[in-house]
Amino acid sequence: MKLPGPFEISAVVESVGPFRAPDFILPDATPEAFAQTKTSKDVRFVDIAGNRLIMSFHSLIVRTKRNVILVDTCVGNDKHRPMLPEWHMRNGPYLEELAKAGCPAESITHVLCTHLHADHVGWNTRLINGRWVPTFPNAKYIMHRTEVEHWQEIQKDPEKAPNHRSWIDSVQPVLDAKQAVIVDSDYEIEPGVRLMPAPGHSPGNIVLVLDDGKDKAYLVGDTIHHPVQIERPQWSSRFCWDADMSRTTRTKFVETVADTGAWVIPAHFAAPNAVQIITDKDGFHFKTLK
Ligand SMILES: [Zn+2]
Repeated sequence: MKLPGPFEISAVVESVGPFRAPDFILPDATPEAFAQTKTSKDVRFVDIAGNRLIMSFHSLIVRTKRNVILVDTCVGNDKHRPMLPEWHMRNGPYLEELAKAGCPAESITHVLCTHLHADHVGWNTRLINGRWVPTFPNAKYIMHRTEVEHWQEIQKDPEKAPNHRSWIDSVQPVLDAKQAVIVDSDYEIEPGVRLMPAPGHSPGNIVLVLDDGKDKAYLVGDTIHHPVQIERPQWSSRFCWDADMSRTTRTKFVETVADTGAWVIPAHFAAPNAVQIITDKDGFHFKTLK
């Protein structure tokens, strides 16, 4: 699906639908607190009867004149994730969808994971003859130094089986293939396409900032999980590494971007995927193209 914003942005969806209850994903979203938000009545983002947040798992493709950048790579096929049935041993048509969007795997020049959680690194690799190999043979995989160092250290303790063991099948093979480029927060892929640090959800969580001189977009990953967090930026997710830091980062971001006309495109917002943050008499809210 084509999205608004600078350059050419589109979404390739791996899965979308009702996921978990609001207060499971966002512990502060108690039934009473959630019911007071406008978003709780928005059927695009909430399965009201089922009391579930609707969440999309998608990659974003950014096409500039020079590059084809794939942002976040979902859960992936054949990944052993027994703790989470929806993610376990998937067999979906993601690569076909990518090709249909005009971006076969060979055409991707850069893969950028906003952070290294299992639902953002899955398609980094695919299983070929029993081996995990990089899915995108011609891509540089951009990874933030702090994030790599964090997960590299944690995964050393196999007892903890951190992050669904996704380091082993989805990150290490990219490092072994020498396709990873480990960068700091000031990295620029090309003029108008740069990183911005957004720590909290994970230690090295980053946002991709796109600015073609006319339009601006922020591809924020899980800095904002669900649209209700625009109304309630103080609500961090259950999956945040440091809930307080995440709250601070998100609140500052929402304040900075509100009423600027910039597009905000997170990793899990259901269609239409992109929003503009606005302020009204009650505080922060969002609008979409449709
Ligand atoms: Zn995620």
